[in-house]
Amino acid sequence: MTGKIIKGISGFYYVYVEGAGLYECKAKGAFRKQKIKPLVGDMVDIAVLDEENKLGNVEEILPRKNELIRPAVSNIDMALVIFASAKPDPNFNLLDRFLCMMEYQKVPVTICFNKMDLIDKEKQDELRAIYEPAGYRVIFTSTKTGEGIDTVRHILEGKTTTVAGPSGVGKSSIINCLQDEIQMETGHISKKIERGKHTTRHSEIIPIADGTYIMDTPGFSSMDVPGFEKEDLWTCYPEFVEHEPYCRFQGCSHINEPDCGVKEALERGEISQVRYDNYKLLYEELKSRQRY
Ligand code: GDP
Ligand code: ZN
Repeated sequence: MTGKIIKGISGFYYVYVEGAGLYECKAKGAFRKQKIKPLVGDMVDIAVLDEENKLGNVEEILPRKNELIRPAVSNIDMALVIFASAKPDPNFNLLDRFLCMMEYQKVPVTICFNKMDLIDKEKQDELRAIYEPAGYRVIFTSTKTGEGIDTVRHILEGKTTTVAGPSGVGKSSIINCLQDEIQMETGHISKKIERGKHTTRHSEIIPIADGTYIMDTPGFSSMDVPGFEKEDLWTCYPEFVEHEPYCRFQGCSHINEPDCGVKEALERGEISQVRYDNYKLLYEELKSRQRY
């Protein structure tokens, strides 16, 4: 049978097989010899050892579509990053940090501003104006009014999506809304996993419909992806990339150099000041890190 690893806890892999349920599996010793470690998100072939108790063995890891480092997970199609429209106000620095990490790992991102019931249309447009010119899809939701939740469901359909966001923005509320429909089918999953839960929070994939999975990503990934240097930063700002050819200097940092295409675009209002200011902050942060 083929399924998806939705959680891994101390040597056990929880494999969800559509239509059959959740199997608690061990990985054969062979993987260790091959130096392949099963990852959450992996599609795997399993051999069932005990159908009644749903125990099995991971026999083979199917080829990975991609593999992220932060969070450690495979076969991710998209990232959904959730912030509150207000209460708390969105932390743009944190958001840009996340966007950069996803750009660097080539994962498309949708930005969701929840608690839209707390802001007016004008404020919505302000938020859009920061991120839409950068090429991101921006959606607004409210778990209070239900607005936008269907859009989220539609965007997720048929994909495996990593869902991230700082605490207090309504991430759990949104995930609960999405889960409603198949709660009966998957309700037993969390119970089974609960037993093995004794360490820090791990990433966990939640099946929300056939072929549709979300991964609840704990916390926020920092910028410590191996190999990520300050020189890479501008390449993770899609709206900078199109203006970089107009920079006079090769290797322009877009901070102090004259005749910088990016700064000129900023002056013309084609790049958001919020995005540019965060770029400078993140650049300085990466620069000071490299001294060690
Ligand atoms: P999490 O920490 O991101 O998982 O956030 P929760 O789902 O626990 O929600 C945090 C708080 O925000 C709770 O008090 C929720 O009732 C509230 N909340 C969640 N969604 C909305 C929303 O759409 N509008 C408003 N006004 N409050 C919300
Ligand atoms: Zn430049």
